[in-house]
Amino acid sequence: MPSLNEIIPDLEISSDERIRVFRRTFHAIKEFEGMEVDAYIVITDHYVIVLDTLLCPEDVSFMMQSVKNQLRGRSLLCINSHADWDHAWGNCYFTGENLAPIIAHDHCLTRLQSTEAHKELLDFQQLSSTFKNVFLLPPTITFNQHFTIHGRNLTIELLHAPGHHLDLEQLIALQPLHVLCSHGKTNSPDQLKQNLSYICEIERRCKSVLQKRKPGVTDLVHVSELINYSFNEVVGNTTETIDRIFYTQAHENNCQAIMKWLMNTY
Ligand SMILES: [Zn+2]
Repeated sequence: MPSLNEIIPDLEISSDERIRVFRRTFHAIKEFEGMEVDAYIVITDHYVIVLDTLLCPEDVSFMMQSVKNQLRGRSLLCINSHADWDHAWGNCYFTGENLAPIIAHDHCLTRLQSTEAHKELLDFQQLSSTFKNVFLLPPTITFNQHFTIHGRNLTIELLHAPGHHLDLEQLIALQPLHVLCSHGKTNSPDQLKQNLSYICEIERRCKSVLQKRKPGVTDLVHVSELINYSFNEVVGNTTETIDRIFYTQAHENNCQAIMKWLMNTY
């Protein structure tokens, strides 16, 4: 420290002092140049809860420093939102003297135990020393549908949300005052509505193609082209800086996932 790969507590995004936001910037791998990802620590009467563990145990250690005075009289818990490398690779902080339960959906456990995940870690370790101390530590408490943590002055409800538009509709129905998105840089609930209309638009265009014909294997490589919904059209005339390489691929993945899902249900 200071280094280009840094974590900054973001004091503006949460006005609730029980909820601390930490923003990790990552520059060590070209493909993810400039990536930002958020993790949170929630402090309730009963618990200090770490929501996501970022990229490596050093990241968690940094976050924990800032709450060390709150640990006395509270149990430490960790939650994984999902198993991606930028959200769960700091899990191994919670071993030995820092032992704490790690709570996540069953699917997160399966993914962190998979051969693919171990291979991905080896690949990342070749590319950057950020990952030198990482070993995959799967969750120790898992749930299938929902899980509730009663923190006395704050209740955390974990819901399984694989990312379909129904999940977004349910979230919007809760009429949240604020949302925290791991890669969102905003806490406005409008973000949810924009995401929902984006997903619905992909779905609408996929259905319109499916009504005419069943796509072949080669069509499914470029679904965004097949449904005529380019990344440029999605972002429109935005003046925000966007990681175009990363999000063009993310858009393609979204289109493919929705098309494949519709093909199975049609
Ligand atoms: Zn992520």
